[in-house]
Amino acid sequence: MAVQKQFTGTLRYGDPALTGGVSVHDKQFDELFAYDGPLGLGIGDEQITFHLWAPTAEEAYVNLYADAQTDVCTRHAMTRGERGSWSFEGTEALLEQYYTFSVVIEGEETEAVDPYARLVGVNGDRGFIGRLNHTNPEGFDAKTKPAFVNPTDAIVYEVHVRDFSIQPQSPFVNKGKFLAFTEQAGLDYLTNLGVTHVQLLPVYDYSTDSVDETRLSEEQYNWGYDPKNYNAIEGSYATDPYDPYVRVRELKQAIQAMHGRGLRVIMDVVYNHVYDAYRMNFMKLVPGYYYRYENGVLANGSGCGNDTASERYMMRRFIVDSIRYLATEFGFDGFRFDLMGLHDTETMNEVRRVLDEIDPTILVIGEGWHLNTPMDAEAANQSNAVLMPRIAHFNDGIRDGLRGSAIEFEKTGWVNGHKRIEDVRVGVVGSIQYDEHIKGFAVEPDQCVTYIEAHDNHTVWDKLIVSNPKASDEERTKMHRLASAVMMTSQGIAFVHAGQEFMRTKGGVENSYKSPTPVNQMDWVRVEERAEDVTYMKELIRLRKRYDVFRMTSAEQIRNGLTFMKSPKHSLAYTLEGADERVYVIHNANKTMRTFHLPKEAWTIVFGEAQIKERAHDMEVRVDGMTTLVLEGVKES
Ligand code: CA
Repeated sequence: MAVQKQFTGTLRYGDPALTGGVSVHDKQFDELFAYDGPLGLGIGDEQITFHLWAPTAEEAYVNLYADAQTDVCTRHAMTRGERGSWSFEGTEALLEQYYTFSVVIEGEETEAVDPYARLVGVNGDRGFIGRLNHTNPEGFDAKTKPAFVNPTDAIVYEVHVRDFSIQPQSPFVNKGKFLAFTEQAGLDYLTNLGVTHVQLLPVYDYSTDSVDETRLSEEQYNWGYDPKNYNAIEGSYATDPYDPYVRVRELKQAIQAMHGRGLRVIMDVVYNHVYDAYRMNFMKLVPGYYYRYENGVLANGSGCGNDTASERYMMRRFIVDSIRYLATEFGFDGFRFDLMGLHDTETMNEVRRVLDEIDPTILVIGEGWHLNTPMDAEAANQSNAVLMPRIAHFNDGIRDGLRGSAIEFEKTGWVNGHKRIEDVRVGVVGSIQYDEHIKGFAVEPDQCVTYIEAHDNHTVWDKLIVSNPKASDEERTKMHRLASAVMMTSQGIAFVHAGQEFMRTKGGVENSYKSPTPVNQMDWVRVEERAEDVTYMKELIRLRKRYDVFRMTSAEQIRNGLTFMKSPKHSLAYTLEGADERVYVIHNANKTMRTFHLPKEAWTIVFGEAQIKERAHDMEVRVDGMTTLVLEGVKES
């Protein structure tokens, strides 16, 4: 990541007369300049207003351009207002022009994109003055969405926009584009699978260094965890990246089509760092303010060169404003916070509060990892889940417990040879406080995302190749299926990575963020080849949806209704009881058959195969090695 300039020293920018000599990092700075007024572009019937927050600037300007790329510019001085804000009011004659802001700080002028820009030109280098209602597809209503109530009913499917449809053999017309999600083939595939939510890897406008929107005929690829304009949309997924309306309209078309087929949509948001701190508008407009520093240099808990400072008033406000905009304008049904552990709990709770005002069924999930960042606030990580009700954390415990460490490639998990079962049990209960031995991070199951594979790290299939090099294809298939079966019969919010159903491989690449298309693409040929595995996942999803007891809504319910049963070594058995349901789940991680003893009842097999023999005092059930069996019992009334 290119770093252009390192700021060191006292971080005091601009004319001290403007800030009273207060550094952007002093608490006093927020006391003096925390601003709640309008920001960004305001488009009325006749006038257009521009608002900017730049307390350390001595002068500020609006630059106007006829198009996104030429340099002919007219500029207007902005007027300094209260608490470090600036404004300029123009007429509707400015419509459909491009704009940027310039600020003069310590005599030096810098040009930056409006952080609040919603419409942008190609590569997001300039904002665009346009009416958002021009981006609405026919019949679009952000408030019309599929019915959904309990977060634990969610079965999330994580997919990269381009990966989904880019393969030459794929059935799509709009390959690599938002519009592929409006095509019947994809919608049929997703709805047949039975998932409830589609989670898109970043669709905000990301860095030109990653994907240059002017060179789309060339091979370029990136996941997009390198934000450039948070409120604007990535142009490379649009059919025309030069028309500012098109990228927004086509994303809305994708959401509209998915909503129309009963699928909810989650946006992946990455407010914890920016692509390049020094080239990003935040640093240009209020140098130093939006980031955390350690010994005078940018903190790097993100591993991406900088950490934003969510605990500061205007960074928090930016995140909350952005989420509010994206939820209301696009009708997103959830947000996945990248490296959420870098944010503070107050910001995340404010996000939750604002979303509740819009629609309380909108999900908030995130990576609540423990990260090393200098923050004078409570971190939004797993350990602080108690402070953040209804915000979920990915459970890396069940992931590593089942398949082996994500970092130590050769290490195995419960399905591929390791005996340790503790983390798996914690995962099965949705990481709640179950008893004195089984204790997870969550207070309630809606705070736990249960998963074994995501875009990060090896796919399960690739992990099984590096961890179990001597296993056969058939053995790995069984391990893979068993891992998916344990996660799908566990409590919490279920999450699968696109392709997990066909044992996706990225050819052993464990960090494919910029790997070429053949590594990252969804392999629709493999979908056919592995049709039985796809059916297996489909049946698991159907099973999870059929019984409420797989999707309990409270920790109390889990403590009362889920009971671990005595079972042979290296197997796991538990019963689930709800108001009208009684289910017995058996996972046999041994290579060979094991015998289980169930209470003498009228059990019906609802998933898997086994021989059942009725005996004097119990039922003897023989379950093949490396398989899962689920039985339904009769609920006594
Ligand atoms: Ca871009």
